[in-house]
Amino acid sequence: MTDYRCGRVTLVGRPNVGKSTLLNRLVGAKVSITSPRPQTTRQRLLGIKTADAVQIVYVDTPGLHPAQGGQLGQHMNRAARTSLDGVDAIVLVITAAGWTQADEYPLQLATAAGLPVILAINKIDQIKDRPSLLPLIELSAKKFGFTEIVPVAALRGENVDALERALIKLLPVQPPMYPADQITDRSERFLAAELVREQVFRGFSQEIPYAVAVQIEKFKREKGVLHVAATLWVEKEGQKAILIGKGGEQMKTTGTRARLAMQKAFGGKVHLELWVKVREHWSDDARALKTFGYED
Ligand code: GDP
Ligand code: MG
Repeated sequence: MTDYRCGRVTLVGRPNVGKSTLLNRLVGAKVSITSPRPQTTRQRLLGIKTADAVQIVYVDTPGLHPAQGGQLGQHMNRAARTSLDGVDAIVLVITAAGWTQADEYPLQLATAAGLPVILAINKIDQIKDRPSLLPLIELSAKKFGFTEIVPVAALRGENVDALERALIKLLPVQPPMYPADQITDRSERFLAAELVREQVFRGFSQEIPYAVAVQIEKFKREKGVLHVAATLWVEKEGQKAILIGKGGEQMKTTGTRARLAMQKAFGGKVHLELWVKVREHWSDDARALKTFGYED
């Protein structure tokens, strides 16, 4: 184990560039939820990849914004900013569509950290050919002295191994920090709540996903079946009605999809019960946020 390498790597970028999708690919397991909507990720979490000679501890973060309103927004921003503390390298994620105004803030934070920064250009499956990426790579190289610039397609796993190789070179020689079988720092309970929230982000539009917090009431294995009960907290009665749907149809769909995702994540049969409750302005209420697990 003399040459064992181990270190921490943070993924940063504006919302929706594919940080969590990339993290799951790099880890090789689903530890972070993803959706087509910005700000799906609310909390910092670790994804841990252990191999024979290396352990890489990835930090997933909420997307970086210069300013965000409300207590939840502030919590998310703090989680993103402090994720640069104590890491060995940074992966700044943008997309193959090119630099946008919203990429400038994460770029600024990443490049001011005094750490090696690798630029991952994600979603290359959405451009027609490789050569059309060259101008973007050239432009990016002028913006900052990135250690490497790696085009990837996180969704289908393309070139993610090249990104991993580039990162390994930046890690210090030291023994692993986590047991070889540990893939995240979060509990199964947390992942269960996230898998419910993921379905809300994927299944509902407009303000609904942002009005929902999920609290796990029960998480218990009994005779080979995992029993999970969760409350979906919303801010208004109207949102509750939308989440439940006519005759409970929407809740049923959300529940089925979340249950299947849990079965995949935890293995074995899952029984899932969902409840919807109203707590006005929870997203701007420090006590409610604490109760729902949004703590610094
Ligand atoms: P995050 O907010 O940066 O964590 O982004 P997510 O990982 O939640 O992904 C945002 C959206 O981009 C989701 O709909 C993903 O499926 C999609 N996405 C992520 N990676 C890729 C990719 O390589 N190609 C394409 N076409 N879509 C991707
Ligand atoms: Mg995310």
